[in-house]
Amino acid sequence: MSHDAFWTGEQHALQAATRAFVEREVTPNLQDWEAAGQVPRSLHAAAAKAGLLGVAFPEQVGGQGGDILDSLAMQEAFFAAGGSSGLAAALFTGGIAVPHLAARGTAEQIDSFVRPVLDGTKIGSLGVTEPGGGSDVAGITTVAVRDPSTGSGQAAEYVVNGAKTFITSGVRADFVTTAVRTGGPGHAGVSLLVIEKGTPGFTVDRALEKMGWLCSDTASLSFVDARVPVANLIGEENTGFAQIAEQFVVERIALAVHAYGIAARSLALTASYAQERETFGKPLAARQVVRHRLVEMHQRVDVARTYTRAIAARHAAGEGVVAEACLAKNNAVEACEWVVSQAVQLHGGTGYMHGVEVERHYRDARILGIGGGATEVLNDLAARLLGYAG
Ligand SMILES: Cc1cc2nc3c(=O)[nH]c(=O)nc-3n(C[C@H](O)[C@H](O)[C@H](O)COP(=O)(O)OP(=O)(O)OC[C@H]3O[C@@H](n4cnc5c(N)ncnc54)[C@H](O)[C@@H]3O)c2cc1C
Repeated sequence: MSHDAFWTGEQHALQAATRAFVEREVTPNLQDWEAAGQVPRSLHAAAAKAGLLGVAFPEQVGGQGGDILDSLAMQEAFFAAGGSSGLAAALFTGGIAVPHLAARGTAEQIDSFVRPVLDGTKIGSLGVTEPGGGSDVAGITTVAVRDPSTGSGQAAEYVVNGAKTFITSGVRADFVTTAVRTGGPGHAGVSLLVIEKGTPGFTVDRALEKMGWLCSDTASLSFVDARVPVANLIGEENTGFAQIAEQFVVERIALAVHAYGIAARSLALTASYAQERETFGKPLAARQVVRHRLVEMHQRVDVARTYTRAIAARHAAGEGVVAEACLAKNNAVEACEWVVSQAVQLHGGTGYMHGVEVERHYRDARILGIGGGATEVLNDLAARLLGYAG
């Protein structure tokens, strides 16, 4: 790989460790995990050992320090080496499940949930979306009511009722950072509560079957009079919406990296294929129309990467980039959808076959414009923040 002057020496070293991890642990097994519908727990421990799980988390909570740019460096190398978007979703679910705990958790919560996720011994999920809707986070209906009979002599408890769906790693998770309604309607009544597997009344209803992200298990969850210690509340009661919104910026930048990361990998695979594959007596790459297609794929990937890196750098410098993170994700997703489609096209019938890498990227790409804020919802948010709303 050519030297990328955007990254520091340390970030290059992190990229080298990431590539070695993906080539050793991931690519030989990925197809089996796609068929199995999940990745093994041992992969989390191996990723932690390779120094990947704690990137951008403070050392005080068990992380390796660094910031979002280190995370970008790592993720870009992860995808360039053949790691898939679904695998990143499954392996790095901690990146969406524990940042709120790392930022506002008690010492006990950090020891019970953050450290074990970052050292690969526990798996956490984030449970926001409900069967009734995912885009309107302020509209969630899962309720947590304090049981007044608890608290004196007995640890205070919430009683939780409701359901969540489309929860990444929800089948395997040891706990779910769950958005619940503890107050009135709207965003001001939302809290975040850690609900552990094994809590009576908390059931993983089923593993969902999907179009892509096949190695990433996705679950429906239900809560029927599930009793959860008040000690599992993250931060103050009714501050959950702000906590979720704060972390969405990082999640959207991360999904932008998924998008241009798998697009870049699909381009690399297609460029090699176009050198090897001959039609009408010449390699595909000898045709001007094919070369131009490859250049346009390159252009779209590079523009998405350059903009996303710039927004991540501004975020790392402490600037508010909520609107720009929406634009970065939407732009990268649009680039990705076009690039992975062209990759399949230039692979011909081979590109339509299961087990061929570009086919997997094509299917995996489709979730990126839906999860973590659908394209339209992010455009709406950006319109308000940029002053274009009526
Ligand atoms: C594989 C997968 C993994 C996921 N992982 C998680 C997870 O770990 N945790 C979690 O909490 N959630 C997760 N989700 C849920 C995901 O975040 C939601 O699917 C997403 O937020 C959209 O919510 P929805 O599916 O309910 O669609 P809806 O909110 O019903 O919206 C449907 C569609 O309508 C359009 N739309 C919505 N609102 C507007 C509007 N205001 N204006 C114009 N158009 C609009 C969009 O095109 C949208 O896709 C996951 C989903 C999938 C498929």
